[in-house]
Amino acid sequence: MDGSPLLHSHPVRTAFIPAEPRFGEGAECARQKGGFSPSGSATFACGVALVPAIRHRHAVSLERALRRKRGHNDLIPGGSRCTLAEDRAALKQRIKEANDIVDVVGKHVALRQKGATFKGLCPFHDDHNPSFDVDPRRQTYRCWSCGKYGDVFTFVQEINRVGFVEAMEELARNAGISLENQTFAKHGPNRARMLEVTRWAAEQFHQCLLDATFAEPARLYLGERRLIGDIVRRFGLGFAPPQGDWLVRKATESGQPLDLMEQLGLISKNNDGNGFYGRFRDRVMFPIRDIRGQTVGFGGRILPSSLSSAKVAKYINSAENFLFSKSDQLYGLDQARNEALKAKELAVVEGYTDVLMAHQMGVTNVVATMGTALNDRHVRKLKHVVSKVVLVFDADEGGNKGVDRALEVFVRNNLELRVAKLPSGLDPCDLLVEQGVDPFREAIDGAIDVFEHKLAQVFEQAQGGVEAQERAVQQMLAVLALTPELRSVKMELMVNRIAHRLYLKEETLWNKLRQLQSSRQQSAPEASRSGELAAEQPGPQEPVGKAPPVEVELLQLLLAEPALVARVSGEITPNMIEHSSVRMILEGLYRLLAEGLTPELDELRGRIDNETLLARAMVAKQRGLDLADRPACLERVLERFRERARTRQTKELQNQLQSAKNDHAAARELLRQLRH
Ligand SMILES: [Zn+2]
Repeated sequence: MDGSPLLHSHPVRTAFIPAEPRFGEGAECARQKGGFSPSGSATFACGVALVPAIRHRHAVSLERALRRKRGHNDLIPGGSRCTLAEDRAALKQRIKEANDIVDVVGKHVALRQKGATFKGLCPFHDDHNPSFDVDPRRQTYRCWSCGKYGDVFTFVQEINRVGFVEAMEELARNAGISLENQTFAKHGPNRARMLEVTRWAAEQFHQCLLDATFAEPARLYLGERRLIGDIVRRFGLGFAPPQGDWLVRKATESGQPLDLMEQLGLISKNNDGNGFYGRFRDRVMFPIRDIRGQTVGFGGRILPSSLSSAKVAKYINSAENFLFSKSDQLYGLDQARNEALKAKELAVVEGYTDVLMAHQMGVTNVVATMGTALNDRHVRKLKHVVSKVVLVFDADEGGNKGVDRALEVFVRNNLELRVAKLPSGLDPCDLLVEQGVDPFREAIDGAIDVFEHKLAQVFEQAQGGVEAQERAVQQMLAVLALTPELRSVKMELMVNRIAHRLYLKEETLWNKLRQLQSSRQQSAPEASRSGELAAEQPGPQEPVGKAPPVEVELLQLLLAEPALVARVSGEITPNMIEHSSVRMILEGLYRLLAEGLTPELDELRGRIDNETLLARAMVAKQRGLDLADRPACLERVLERFRERARTRQTKELQNQLQSAKNDHAAARELLRQLRH
């Protein structure tokens, strides 16, 4: 159980021999971390709407038809958000229709027709008998052995290990449907144009670093950091010279849209309102790329030799926009992806140069957060790539907030999260330069489970007597209470470990935990209304226990017929739902409705990142589609809900009556209520 990280300092000091001539001449790798400029509070509002919606007349979705039937007048061109949502739904539908599932799966699996379906070896497990079915009529696939189920989008997501948006983009490309040249009209410039301008800027900065005479101080700086030309090129590092008009002039010469560049945070308006100046000046530029290697933004570090270095932020970033959100990005993910897939694990460090040096030294499954703690959005991105993440902390950071945040992420997500500690006083870059790759690798290999790590800390605190122990337990349970599913296998294990470590009865812990959770749930509706759908509360782990049939039926009907969601929202509140998975989906649908979007499963898919849950929802939807006269079914389901509520109330009163036996007045009152 004990896997304490290697805290001893490494005796061998490996000389650093550059594989290629370095940039400039070098001193030590200076500390890089902690310098990311804190950006404003602007949040990334369009997390889901990454794909430009387009208007097209031909693909009239079922959804549209439904809405029209309901008499919605939100089809007026240039109208409300509903129009945008419908466009998006129609676009998805169009992409789906253009990609026959048999063709798409057929590229990866040899399929043979058998009756109405096609059969092949499942690509998701080690299959020897063809147990993988593709149904062209329903446009779905299912493995009878490992249970994988889904449609053309999920197939591409799973096979390429990408998110929904990426899968959609790929399928659009396959079908020759252009997402890129569509304009957003009132909803801002499209993603493709923004990417193009960002790519153009990255090239300018990069060429400048490589060629310009005035970039010599930047080359010198990188050389001092011991970074070699190969890594500088691989990560596309650049330099923004001190002259404020440099980028603006280049942009004007090559006809780049200045207003768009301003939106991207590359340039700003001059104070007098005339003309623009470059926001990044005298800075080393680190292009931030998405998982596919497209540059989506920049981090810029002021040169220490800069005249203004004392007056300005050490690090600044691109503006938060449609393409780029600091708290979403992982620096180096595009470069780390392949090795991470192979090694099945990824290490997360804190600074750009930590990543660069690790890659330069051959440890290539390393990324960095952009100055924020690892969060759920990062995890959603990483889950497609690895199942194990190692957070690399400096030794002096062990007992701090970093571990607590990591623990929260761990509890809420189905992901193995470990903590590695480096020998004291060194950040990864220092360590790699001074001692070579071995101690870094050893620290990662010796990383311990974040839960175990926290438990060890708490255990130490608990030695101080009963009160200290009480506090320690409270602290652990408060984190555990964040999980949406109380009785999961993972939770049982965690409670068991706490009980064991702190010599407590498990039952005592469960009772406390239940109290915490119910008090949390009472305050939750408020919090979730303001938040970003269920996205920030990732799905439950494998649901334990079956949902009551009436709840399953409700879900089947709503998923099959989104028009019914509004009807239900007036009568069923999420807290009336017992099963947490059903509740989560229902909440998601209500949220969509409140946002003016179509409350349908496809819309939820960009937001709930729980493949198991989504696959189940898809099955439920299919069952719902098989039901005839859904509105009438719904009325029957609602009647059963009412019945259930009445039964519960009666039980409640009977219980109260039982305990009020000695109080005649109270008992009489309860009996009166019961007879009503
Ligand atoms: Zn399978």
